[in-house]
Amino acid sequence: MFHQNYQIPFNKPFLCGKETDYIRDAVASGKISGDGLFTARCQAFYEQRYGFHKTLLTTSCTDALEMCALLLNIKAGDEVIMPAYTFVSAANAFLLRGAKLVFADSHAQHPNIDEELLEALITPRTRAIVLVHYGGMACNMTKIMQLAQKYGIYIVEDAAHATDARYLGENNAYLGGIGHLATFSFHETKNVMAGEGGLLVINDPQFAQRAEIIREKGTNRAAFFRNEVNKYEWVDIGSSFLPSELIAAFLYAQLECIDLIQQKRIAIWQHYAQLLQPLAQSGNIKTIQMPPYAECNGHLFYILCQNADERDQLIAHLKRHSIYASFHYQALHCSPFFAPFHDGRALPNSQYFSDCLLRLPLYYELSLAQVETVAKAVMAWYA
Ligand SMILES: *Cc1c(COP(=O)(O)O)cnc(C)c1O
Repeated sequence: MFHQNYQIPFNKPFLCGKETDYIRDAVASGKISGDGLFTARCQAFYEQRYGFHKTLLTTSCTDALEMCALLLNIKAGDEVIMPAYTFVSAANAFLLRGAKLVFADSHAQHPNIDEELLEALITPRTRAIVLVHYGGMACNMTKIMQLAQKYGIYIVEDAAHATDARYLGENNAYLGGIGHLATFSFHETKNVMAGEGGLLVINDPQFAQRAEIIREKGTNRAAFFRNEVNKYEWVDIGSSFLPSELIAAFLYAQLECIDLIQQKRIAIWQHYAQLLQPLAQSGNIKTIQMPPYAECNGHLFYILCQNADERDQLIAHLKRHSIYASFHYQALHCSPFFAPFHDGRALPNSQYFSDCLLRLPLYYELSLAQVETVAKAVMAWYA
């Protein structure tokens, strides 16, 4: 059954109020294809609020990741390191260019890539590390950027979960602003959303011009519209990665109330953490253990059960109480598609999070009373 049919669904897209007004404005303006006023506003928002060098709105985070693989000129035989515990988008994006995927394990305490394991995975063919700030929790960017510099490899941050979160290390930089490239998602399950949509962040200026070309079917149309060239032509490979103004108009309405959204989501997150603390103290479950350099952005809340069986029984118990909770990623190195290509290394922590992690409902309209209902139902099962 679809999760929306539950009294407490897993997710519920939140409308700030101006979304359809702005879509109507875009229609009335006579320009609904990409790169109009609302696209420019969304990009300016990210560049100003977070200090990103350059941003480009894309059709999805997956497409932004495909743009990263194109920008880095990934070719057959190049190696790309990424966590096994992540969404399939990053893996597909680089595999489509012929890369060899080298999966790294997670930390024991949290699902982020374990930076201590990375150096042993780097070879002369390693071109990039694609990391994910799981649940908006920062990876250890100081260590990872040091490795990148030492070995001349590029860092791509998949910041799909990481809206408005910082790395509490150097300069308290916003996530998505540290690696050479980064990507965000505006899928309806994310903190700010547009149904579908994404953003490419270019922090290394050497990629800025080519990113525009790749996004516009390999043409220099963007430069043409700025009157920098007198005709636009096919100058490189590319595809169609720019969303229509309708998407940008919707997204801009969401960005305008980002502070409200973040405040509410973080309050929900903190309420869960507080209510479930006794269950963690008694050793029944584990709650989120954030590294000291990470900050909570209220993207998701999870607990860790003892094993897969217990986790699945708890999901069923919550469903009986009309609450939809969910597991998350199935580790990519043992997926039906990739298992035959994996090099055989055991990745026990990725497997652990695949088996034991349970996400609880978290969305803007979830009331604190409903958070208590969920927490009580979890506690009742353990009692
Ligand atoms: C949601 C998500 C994506 C994919 O985003 P789309 O915009 O749906 O393509 C990629 N990576 C992670 C970590 C995600 O959570």
